[in-house]
Amino acid sequence: MTHTTSEPAGAAGPAADSARPLVQLENVNKHFGPFQALTDINLSIPERQVAIVVGPSGSGKSTLCRTINRLETIDDDGGRILIDGQPLPQEGKELARLRAEVGMVFQSFNLFAHKSILENVTLGPMKVKGLKKARAEKEAMELLERVGVGQQAKKLPAQLSGGQQQRVAIARALAMRPKVLLFDEPTSALDPEMVQEVLDVMVQLAKEGMTMVVVTHEMGFARKAGDRVIFMADGAILEDTDPESFFTAPQHERAKDFLGKIL
Ligand code: ADP
Ligand code: MG
Repeated sequence: MTHTTSEPAGAAGPAADSARPLVQLENVNKHFGPFQALTDINLSIPERQVAIVVGPSGSGKSTLCRTINRLETIDDDGGRILIDGQPLPQEGKELARLRAEVGMVFQSFNLFAHKSILENVTLGPMKVKGLKKARAEKEAMELLERVGVGQQAKKLPAQLSGGQQQRVAIARALAMRPKVLLFDEPTSALDPEMVQEVLDVMVQLAKEGMTMVVVTHEMGFARKAGDRVIFMADGAILEDTDPESFFTAPQHERAKDFLGKIL
């Protein structure tokens, strides 16, 4: 590969650069009162990676996602979270900027019920990024087309199927041009026949190189699009390996037990 001359001497080349960590958790703990929901989480997600997070109910998967975009604070005990190398502050102006770099798609879509599909997607870019309406609408329409719901732009969320609403939620997250997208069980509230249309969009994003953290028990997706499986139990990461190894040869008893229940 040719080196561009604009690179400073000694800078990492394209290969090293493409593996730069976009999300880093260092010694992260999270208590809810006396209850410890996350225990000493250490995790680094490089650019373009698709990390699948699995584990039994209550193991801390949602809490992990929610701390990464600061919907939850973390314990003030020296642990920290970095987004593209920048420590995520617990509050302040810098927080809003870094948070915009982390998109999130929830199980329950969370669209604004009284706003049109188009408005749901343009709101964030206009409010947070200061985009003019025309520009925000143009970009939103492109994204809605991309996830296959361009025809629905003028409707309200309730007029769409669950699968369509979740694809709108993905378009809405993408409209902020995040560096990383978090998905918290994005298909588990959907009727079975709508699961695949949402997974198809996610597979496409993965192919395009989007960095993703995906909490899901969709094993087909994990095997097809996942680069890595992180298995959590009781707020801790017990296994962190490639999908094939995890599904065919889990190491921990807890992981074997978990797979026995879902496969
Ligand atoms: P998962 O997503 O893996 O099912 P969660 O991250 O939602 O697990 O929850 C992990 C644990 O933290 C659970 O025991 C849950 O009850 C607890 N928890 C989550 N959110 C709160 C909260 N806001 N207050 C108190 N406990 C919470
Ligand atoms: Mg959860």
